[in-house]
Amino acid sequence: MRYAAGVDVGGTNIECGILDAQGSILLKRKMPTRPDSGAEDILQRITATLERLYAEAGVAAQDIAVIGLGIPGLVDPEVGMSLRAVNLNWIQVPVAAMLRELTGKPVFIDNDVRMYTYGEAVAGAGRGYEYIYGITIGTGLAAAYVQRGGIYRGHRFLAGEIGHIPVNPAGITCGCGRTGCLETIVSATGIARQARTRIVQGEHSLLRERFADVEDIRASDVSRASREGDGLSRDVLERTGRELGRALSWVVPILAPDVIIIGGGGALAGEDLTGPMRQEMNARLLQDYAGRTAIRYAALGDDAGVIGSGLWALSQLNK
Ligand SMILES: [Zn+2]
Repeated sequence: MRYAAGVDVGGTNIECGILDAQGSILLKRKMPTRPDSGAEDILQRITATLERLYAEAGVAAQDIAVIGLGIPGLVDPEVGMSLRAVNLNWIQVPVAAMLRELTGKPVFIDNDVRMYTYGEAVAGAGRGYEYIYGITIGTGLAAAYVQRGGIYRGHRFLAGEIGHIPVNPAGITCGCGRTGCLETIVSATGIARQARTRIVQGEHSLLRERFADVEDIRASDVSRASREGDGLSRDVLERTGRELGRALSWVVPILAPDVIIIGGGGALAGEDLTGPMRQEMNARLLQDYAGRTAIRYAALGDDAGVIGSGLWALSQLNK
C-alpha cells in the first residue's frame, strides 16, 4: 500500500495528515505555525509531527511515497520554492529541498488554494467535473483553477489572485495597500466589516443588541443573524454575493468552468450569499453560459488542503 503525507501550512496553524491513494485521511494533527520561529524550525516540526503520525497510524515510514505541501502566497512549484509568503515572513525559501533533506522523501509544493481546490476537484465537491474553479472566502479571497486533473498556474505561476481586482474606487484600503479590492467586500473580513460599519452608522440590527462591542462581530455572526431574519445581515450577504457574482461573470467566459466550488468560512453564509451571487452572475452572462455552470459548496471542510496536497504529490511522482 502506498501512502502520502499532506501538509497545509497556514499563517496560524499547520495541518499534517497521512492519506491513502484514494484521499482518505488515516490520521491528522494540527499544530501552531509560530511563523517567528523561521522556516527551518517550522519544517523540522513538520518532520517530527509526520514521523509521529506514521508511528501512530501504524504505517511504515518507507510506505510513505511522497510529501505534498500547500503554503500561502506566491510559489514556484517547479523548483519547489516559496517566492513570497507575507504571513510567514518567507522570501525565496527553498521549501521542497529543505523538507526533502529532513525527511528523505520527494516533496512537491504549491500555493495553498491550489492544493485546496485540487483536493476538492479530485476527492470532494468537484468529482465528476472537468473544469473546476475553486474560490475560498476567508480572511481574503483567493481562487484556483483545476482542469482535467492539472493545476492551471499561468505565467510566473501568478494565476488566481482575483481578490485584488479593484471594484470600488471609493472603497476602503485593502491589505495590499490599494483601494477597493474585491476582497475588501468578498471575504469573511469584508462581511464582518460591512455589518460593523452600518451598525456604527446607526442602522438597526439584531447584532447591535447581541454585541456590546461591534468589533467582536464576525462573519459567522452575520450569517447566523441573517438566517434568523435580521434585515441588515441579510442585506450585507446579498451585496457581498452580488459583488462576487459580478466578478464570476467575468471569470466564466474566460475559463468556462463546469463547476464553481465555494469554500472557506464565508461559504457558511450558504444560500443567503450564493443565491444573489448565482442570480447576478447568470443575469450578466451571455445565454450560452448562463445557468450552465454548477455551483457547489466545498465538501471536504478543513481537510481539503491536506488531501489536495497529498494527492497532488502522489500524482506528480510518476512524471
Ligand atoms: Zn488588494
